[in-house]
Amino acid sequence: MHHSIGNSIKFSQITLQLEATRPSRFVLGTALAFERLDFITESIESSLNRFLFFYITQISKVKMKLNTKTKSLSKVQTHLVAECFNKLYIGGQFVDSIDGEKIPTYYPATGELLHELPRGKANDVEAAIVAAEAAWAEGAWAGMAAAERAEIVAKMAQGIEDNIEMLAEIEAADVGKPYRQAAMTLGGAAGEGKYWCSLGKVLDAEQDVPVNSGGGEGGVPPAEWDVVYRRDPIGVIGLISAWNYPMNVAFRKVAPALIAGNCAILKPSEIAGLSCMFIGKLAQDAGIPPGVFNVVTGDGEAGAALAASPSVSMIAFTGSTLTGSKIMGACAQKLSQVALELGGKSALVVFDDTDLDKAVETTMKGFLTNGGQICTAHTRLVVQESIKSPLLKRLKEELEKLPFCNDPITEKDRGDRIWEDGMTDVVQPVVCESQHKKILGFLYEAKAAGVEVLTGGGVPDEATVGNSGGYFIQPTVLINVERDADVWQKEVFGPVLSVRSFSTEDDAVLEANSTAFGLASTVMSSDPAKAMRVANRIRAGAVFATSTGEGLLAEHPAVSRGGFGFSGVGRELGIGGLHEYTELKSVNYSGFSIADAKKKHTG
Ligand code: NDP
Repeated sequence: MHHSIGNSIKFSQITLQLEATRPSRFVLGTALAFERLDFITESIESSLNRFLFFYITQISKVKMKLNTKTKSLSKVQTHLVAECFNKLYIGGQFVDSIDGEKIPTYYPATGELLHELPRGKANDVEAAIVAAEAAWAEGAWAGMAAAERAEIVAKMAQGIEDNIEMLAEIEAADVGKPYRQAAMTLGGAAGEGKYWCSLGKVLDAEQDVPVNSGGGEGGVPPAEWDVVYRRDPIGVIGLISAWNYPMNVAFRKVAPALIAGNCAILKPSEIAGLSCMFIGKLAQDAGIPPGVFNVVTGDGEAGAALAASPSVSMIAFTGSTLTGSKIMGACAQKLSQVALELGGKSALVVFDDTDLDKAVETTMKGFLTNGGQICTAHTRLVVQESIKSPLLKRLKEELEKLPFCNDPITEKDRGDRIWEDGMTDVVQPVVCESQHKKILGFLYEAKAAGVEVLTGGGVPDEATVGNSGGYFIQPTVLINVERDADVWQKEVFGPVLSVRSFSTEDDAVLEANSTAFGLASTVMSSDPAKAMRVANRIRAGAVFATSTGEGLLAEHPAVSRGGFGFSGVGRELGIGGLHEYTELKSVNYSGFSIADAKKKHTG
């Protein structure tokens, strides 16, 4: 639970909440002996106490609860009166949560209350599982051709496209991302949904494919073996999603899961999951049969109940490495499938033959997109010694010019140039109070350990931000960072860049591979052979080799991606991403031909 009070210290108008348990979810150590995937659970108590002192002394800069309402926020709240944003979606109906509890969610730019959504608990999750099991047992959805299912899911994707303006306003208010960026990525979710739907026919074509078409040559069984492959749906599956790109992360699971023929329960993040609640309405409007798709909002308790249920045969999860590990543990007990898209600590490797402007631009884009709250954020700069000084000088100048985005909902007109010119020109708030504290805690610890701050390092003053609240953090560059420092090894998930330098190509590879994560990384050089050579040696699921930085963070739905090491298990996107939601099955047959078996029964 993210907004609960662990240690709460009340001042007249300021409530400072330190959640005792929350930071431990993020205190994830990475042993430098990478073969051992140990979680180093650190004692956080002493650092928390020091941080508490720091927080109190910085009190004038922290969030104050406001009584007034931001105009743009009131407009978003008019969207949120709709049933789908206030109820769970179970068995084809919008229903109240059994215990009737609510989770508050706040506008990151001001700290004002945005909405209260239902806190679904284990009993609600169980109700959704019962509905999904009934739909699975009934069998109509799994019995349809994948192309037919895809036609229905395509209506949901169209529904995202038709409602982009509303959904973008909701995500801007919920996550604190500039409206224009939210609209852009929601368009991406709709487009990706349509891509998934195009794979319905591909999946149908993969049914009953002869295994022995090679007639015994090249490792396939001999011709007399009559055997075909099928790809079956898995059953009732749980989809647990993160808050940073709420609709994109969730629909990237919902669409392939349903097209593959499964029945699913979506558990969005409580931190920012409002747009995901709309997927229930999209399913209802599209005519998805009752129980085939369900949405239960709630906190970690709901997610844990879903993961632990013996009736749930797969969990597809996007979130932190620590929660992913817990989910894998729960699934291990019952030997069910997992697909885990986890955290990252991606490196941007810059060789000295790179154009300086492009290097600065790419560095900024890499660690500031979505306020640094993106799994593939390039939060480690690995720069060649000979270009380090000019690059850092330019970076500091550019970062100190950036304005803060004090009302993301109304960023419509200015937007975030990142999506146009490849340049980041606005700093958004981070998503919530607990993330804000967590990031400041990292900065506090880094400074205490002697890490040097090139720029940023804390909370901007009110005059700079342009309003009196909100979870803002200065874009921060840390230099002289040791390789075993937390800010080099752990995912901060905020606008914080750590810098180390290298001399030789081998050193560059060593630095890039010096964490236990392996989600993405980028190599910049004007020498194509060198860029590709180094890219090939980096241990990450998605590597970019570039002389310009163009395409950094870009994804194409047809290109599979995923993580090495702490960054995940399994692959998303592409046909491989659809296969994750299926079980491969061989069917041996004898005494008839497959053509006979496909003839319609006439008697
Ligand atoms: P969390 O791991 O905190 O939460 C992810 C989801 O899991 C939320 O819905 C959360 O619920 C739920 N959850 C929490 N505890 C449990 C539990 N014990 N069992 C089951 N479910 C649980 O991650 P964040 O939401 O903070 O997301 C940020 C993380 O996601 C970052 O590490 C980021 O790198 C990663 N990410 C990875 C991506 C990828 O493709 N590899 C893409 C996007 C993000 P609740 O929030 O309500 O507590």
